[in-house]
Amino acid sequence: MLSCKDVTHKSSDYIDNKLPLISRWQMRLHIFMCVRCAEYIRQMRATVASIGLLKDRNEPAQAVIDETVNNLLEISKKRS
Ligand SMILES: [Zn+2]
Repeated sequence: MLSCKDVTHKSSDYIDNKLPLISRWQMRLHIFMCVRCAEYIRQMRATVASIGLLKDRNEPAQAVIDETVNNLLEISKKRS
């Protein structure tokens, strides 16, 4: 089974659907069994979604950018 570090390492590719099928199943199995990684992936997806929303705007509000950066920093702190 993958470790939590493995999940962290592969999370971007997992969210972007870039992992091979076997790796994807290994990720799903770990996320199903590990509450912390499930929450981590959920937060990563939310962050990716908000960045996607920013791309649609010509000039994103500075407050939105700051909040997104702070969210990413919080996620990183929790994982270290
Ligand atoms: Zn885990």
